[in-house]
Amino acid sequence: TIINPTERPQVTQQLSENIILTTVDDLYNWAKMSSLYPLMFGTACCFIEFMSAYASRFDMERFGMIPRTTPRQADLIITAGTVTMKYAPTLVRIYEQMAEPKYVMAMGACTITGGMFSVDSPTAVRGVDKLIPVDVYIPGCPPRPEAVIDGIIKLRKKIANESIQERQVTQQTHRYHSISHQ
Ligand code: SF4
Repeated sequence: TIINPTERPQVTQQLSENIILTTVDDLYNWAKMSSLYPLMFGTACCFIEFMSAYASRFDMERFGMIPRTTPRQADLIITAGTVTMKYAPTLVRIYEQMAEPKYVMAMGACTITGGMFSVDSPTAVRGVDKLIPVDVYIPGCPPRPEAVIDGIIKLRKKIANESIQERQVTQQTHRYHSISHQ
């Protein structure tokens, strides 16, 4: 099409109103953070607060988060409650069944440090980050639903600033700590 020079300002204006420039990273990250599918790994009382966060008052689904019941369809695992030594291999296996890119949120004192069970229980895992890489920690006993939402917002910010290439390198060099290293 031959554009009449006198029409150029109008064409330039139309282009600026109809074309969005972005990077592959930004587009990819926007899609990821807008459609996180969490797998719930609730083992104790913290998970009750998580149910509140999903209910109508706090409405976590407004972030595009649809809970999944299988790791094959999830890209976020939320651990809430105590993880025992006996249960640890199951958590690692579930995490490994999730496809990349995948994220982990640790909710509550028990899942982050072992909580009150870390004092004298020989069976409590002293933090799920000894088993799988945690992206966001939500402290509290239990954390309030507002804290859970805050954790989701922090994870979304983290995803928004990621680079696809850097994440691949991180995942390749990551080594899980064995449960025997506690
Ligand atoms: Fe229960 Fe507190 Fe442990 Fe959460 S942190 S599982 S509320 S004891």
